[in-house]
Amino acid sequence: MNPPIFPERSNCLVKKYLSLEIFNALEHQKTDSRFTLAQAINSGIKNWDSSIGIYAGDAQSYRTFSLLFDPIICEYHGFSKDKNHKPDISPLMLPSLDPEKKYIKSTRVRVARNLEGFSFPCHISLSQRRKLEKKIISALDRLKDDLKGKYYSFEPIDEKELKQLKKENLWFQKGDRFQDAAGINSDFPKCRGVFHSFDKRFMVWVNEEDHLRVIGLERTSDISSVYNRLSRALSALNQSLAFSRDETYGYLTSCPTNIGTSMRAGVHIQLEKLEQNKDLLHGIVKGYNLQIRGTGGEKTKVENAMFDISNRQRLGISESKIIQNLHAGLLAIIKAEKNLGTP
Ligand code: ADP
Ligand code: MG
Repeated sequence: MNPPIFPERSNCLVKKYLSLEIFNALEHQKTDSRFTLAQAINSGIKNWDSSIGIYAGDAQSYRTFSLLFDPIICEYHGFSKDKNHKPDISPLMLPSLDPEKKYIKSTRVRVARNLEGFSFPCHISLSQRRKLEKKIISALDRLKDDLKGKYYSFEPIDEKELKQLKKENLWFQKGDRFQDAAGINSDFPKCRGVFHSFDKRFMVWVNEEDHLRVIGLERTSDISSVYNRLSRALSALNQSLAFSRDETYGYLTSCPTNIGTSMRAGVHIQLEKLEQNKDLLHGIVKGYNLQIRGTGGEKTKVENAMFDISNRQRLGISESKIIQNLHAGLLAIIKAEKNLGTP
């Protein structure tokens, strides 16, 4: 492999931090599962418009390729290795932000989890993915009370069931070109599926970008209620599954933007006035270290002024602090929207 060349206009962090010296030091390194630098940065090379451009093939990647992962992680999360990542998933009681649902249409909190002893989705064989899926299904089967539900495998899936899952936003699709180049789509849709609780407010994506995406989604603005239920589900799942975790970097995930809490907590919020005043919106979002995504998810467009606003930082911040910051930021955003004239 030759050292990659990125176009001038690329802002990819791999381009910024993969010096020739680091390239030479890492070029021939491999993790125990034989994951290489070339595999880790393939997505960034194929997609020079990536913001990060690197994926981990297993938990060990973070150590084996730390010369490259570390500076990228520090820049993205504003983290330094002498800081500690302290989790705190204790329950919260925050007032509902918009009980009349004028602005906030739904709240979603998700975390990513990978299981110890298995490679991550971009570097896993079909037989291991199958074994993993079985293990996860048996853990999901043990959930009780309001977390009880059903697993829908994607292979094969009944057309009627699929239509319903899509309609209710309970489904995930094959990964985008960034995930594809990383190897995450291999053997899709084999060993993929979604679990949802019978009341459809709690779900688990199996073998998407991470082994599990554990998600709370409710059509309310009651962030703490969604978060509290998710924490309860995580404790229950942790009784039968061992999650991959690191002392410094917290939960380990495929994409280094997700490590730490691995939590993205956000809302779908309709902001008709702020859509016409983007500088004001971006100023508030930046001030509270939040991020904006499009209505259909990452790298999609905002449609009908429906923004996905969520936390940006996931490492070096606790789960409960993420929720508190998001709550404060959303209060400021709703206030600004009202001041601009939306009643
Ligand atoms: P992530 O990788 O954090 O799970 P993505 O940006 O890939 O998030 O989006 C996942 C899906 O969840 C997309 O279909 C998106 O439209 C949907 N989604 C995200 N936030 C919300 C929300 N607050 N309410 C309803 N759906 C949401
Ligand atoms: Mg995603």
